[in-house]
Amino acid sequence: MSSYEAITDELSRTNTRLVAVSKTKSAEEILALYNQGQRIFGENKVQELLEKHELLPKDIEWHLIGHLQSNKVKYIAPFIAIIHSVDSLKLLFEINKEAKKSNRVIKVLIQMHIAREETKFGADEKELIEILEYYCAENSILQNITITGLMGMATNTNDDELIANEFRRLKEIFSFAKNTYLLNKNNFTELSMGMSSDYKIAIREGSTLVRIGSLLFGKRL
Ligand SMILES: *Cc1c(COP(=O)(O)O)cnc(C)c1O
Repeated sequence: MSSYEAITDELSRTNTRLVAVSKTKSAEEILALYNQGQRIFGENKVQELLEKHELLPKDIEWHLIGHLQSNKVKYIAPFIAIIHSVDSLKLLFEINKEAKKSNRVIKVLIQMHIAREETKFGADEKELIEILEYYCAENSILQNITITGLMGMATNTNDDELIANEFRRLKEIFSFAKNTYLLNKNNFTELSMGMSSDYKIAIREGSTLVRIGSLLFGKRL
């Protein structure tokens, strides 16, 4: 059984879907997985995503999982399915603007900073509240985006208990957000958490989207 078959078999007994993270991998490698039935692929760089989107079958659902600069939103707005990595209102406004130009409503996840590691990416709870207050305001201009959930990356560690605690905290923030702001909007449903090394823990903690790269495609150089 290939790792793809093993993972999809495992996921078939859960509510979790697979984002096959294909960054640095060739169109041929992606097509091989596509031919086994995979349709959701994740990339972290806009340029690479554009090249692959051009080359590959049009029924692929592309997810952007990496940091997105405002000036690059316009290139992906016509086709991107979900942007996992939104962590500021400024970026949200830009996505809304470009989605409108494309006559689309784009799904986004708010990326939360939950790990121990220092990084400039990911919102904290205060920033999330600010974003949701804006999004949920009656006269909000954010009509061309749908915030469908949260994304987070756990600390890169062998300490499974720490990882589980971080995912649990993300789930708590998710529930808080859902209950406080999105009661009437049942499209706040996605919890994007779990990668090759920690996806089993993430599934136990309620992940709906696991983002798996190296376990499917082999190590990246
Ligand atoms: C690369 C990447 C992944 C996948 O990592 P693997 O360890 O190869 O599974 C998941 N999420 C994000 C945001 C990534 O950049």
